[in-house]
Amino acid sequence: MQKYVSQIHRCFRCGYCKFPADYSSFNCPSYRRFRFDSYSTGGRLWLIYAWLRGEIDWSEHLAEILYTCTTCKNCTEQCPMKFAPDIVDWIVGARSDMVEKGKIPARVARFFEAVYGYGNPFKQLRSDRAAWANGAKRYAQGDEYLLYVGCLGSYDENGQKMARCLVDILKASGVSFGILGEQEECCGNEIYMLGETGLFQNLAEKNSLKFKELGVGKVITLCPHGYNTMKNLYPASGGNFKVYHYTQVLNDLIKKNKIEPARARARVTYHDPCFLGRHNNIYDEPRRILQAIPGIELVEMERNRKDAFCCGGGSGNFVTDLLAGSADSPARVRAREAYETGADTLAVACPSCLTMLTDAVKAENLDDRLAVRDVSQILKDLSPAR
Ligand code: SF4
Ligand code: SF4
Repeated sequence: MQKYVSQIHRCFRCGYCKFPADYSSFNCPSYRRFRFDSYSTGGRLWLIYAWLRGEIDWSEHLAEILYTCTTCKNCTEQCPMKFAPDIVDWIVGARSDMVEKGKIPARVARFFEAVYGYGNPFKQLRSDRAAWANGAKRYAQGDEYLLYVGCLGSYDENGQKMARCLVDILKASGVSFGILGEQEECCGNEIYMLGETGLFQNLAEKNSLKFKELGVGKVITLCPHGYNTMKNLYPASGGNFKVYHYTQVLNDLIKKNKIEPARARARVTYHDPCFLGRHNNIYDEPRRILQAIPGIELVEMERNRKDAFCCGGGSGNFVTDLLAGSADSPARVRAREAYETGADTLAVACPSCLTMLTDAVKAENLDDRLAVRDVSQILKDLSPAR
């Protein structure tokens, strides 16, 4: 991390990173939540700078400020400086320094302990990892795809529903695939973003080795976070397989007429997950799936695609909840923005966004007017695969 010090001071705190491209609102979720400059990208970078140079002491509050960044990458899009692509790496690097020194917020420490002890952040038993699966077949050599559902797909109620729905669609479309069940490990994306590089390395190597032993050549992930880590970080840890987010696979199946969407009636707005959109440039496939369903009207939120406003769940915040507790919490801001489009359905493509936004819509008392559903649920329930 010390090697970044000479670069961080080039941030001149202009504040462009707080906004979307048209400067219409605040787009850094932690700044939007707390409205202190220390919670913006520039403020955070200067706090890191001062801490690394010994000008300020560590405190729980300083650590919390660092960990309220959801690694959404809005700042990377908006910062005009050459170093913009490195900003999230700097924040992750500073967190790694805090992890090494044992100086992290208690909630983050509990996240790590849960993954160390149980292999997931929810402290659920490994033996229950396939409880969602309802008899879905285990991966066997010769299957085209391994379906990797991740910790949310395995244990979170909304994620489980999403995973079951995807299994039903893949089965009905004749795709050859299997799951890992109890043998699945946490993907480690949040662990990496939270700065625990040793534990991340361990998880990435275990998963990569397991896939290799089983002869897995193609992986479908339920979650954009798993997609991100397997696509961008696993190759350095021996991961040698192709990875697809499920929306890419479903879009392809529709194109090949293996799914024929039935007529539906809904006005839908789509929320871009940060780890699918800004991190991996996948904006079109989820929209194409929705547009392929006759009778669905797709309306965009004011902030969409590269300018989408993060739900606040990234970088482990769906568990640590450091941004929760206010009408200014990012998920609640985003729920109101979705409602303002006049949509009756808020579509997501991530189990973390699904839970964050479902809870936010309830907190805003909008749950009888705005249904939050995953793209696969919209495709299956409004438009059953044939
Ligand atoms: S990170 Fe970039 S956009 Fe943000 S304050 Fe620093 S120089 Fe300006
Ligand atoms: S990654 Fe997102 S939350 Fe973190 S500083 Fe940048 S804009 Fe803010």
